[in-house]
Amino acid sequence: MDRLASFGNDPSDKPRCRGCSSNLVEPYIKCAECGPSPFLLCLQCFTRGFEFKKHESDHKYEIMTSDFPVLEPGWTAQEEMALLEAVMDCGFGNWQDVAYQMRTKSKEECEAHYMKNFINNPLFSSTLLNLRQKEEARTADTAIPFKPTDDPQAHL
Ligand SMILES: [Zn+2]
Ligand SMILES: [Zn+2]
Repeated sequence: MDRLASFGNDPSDKPRCRGCSSNLVEPYIKCAECGPSPFLLCLQCFTRGFEFKKHESDHKYEIMTSDFPVLEPGWTAQEEMALLEAVMDCGFGNWQDVAYQMRTKSKEECEAHYMKNFINNPLFSSTLLNLRQKEEARTADTAIPFKPTDDPQAHL
């Protein structure tokens, strides 16, 4: 009896996270600056800012997923991110302004796409938003000085 067969596909041809060594499931992160062998991270390690040898958490990255094009043909990962960002900036339902900020899509396209792909898919949208917030946090880190947490109010 071959016990390995119960594991399904051969795990050796699956990419692994460089942070926690888990098998990567999409979407995951590929560093765009480390190479030539791909430096891959799961979303958990990526959002924790995992660093290893040459790799630093502020390296440029690509989101590796085959799910993006399947969501809807004609919408790139970039546009998905931009849509979520625009909805956060302009407010849900303000499709006119969302479309204006998007530039590449019409008001109707934005509304239909958001309703179809994000309202019923909270996991997907929260993943994207986490990535975006991680980016913003990184920018804020350099702009805002660290505040010591000796405020007694914090313990109440
Ligand atoms: Zn990991
Ligand atoms: Zn890197």
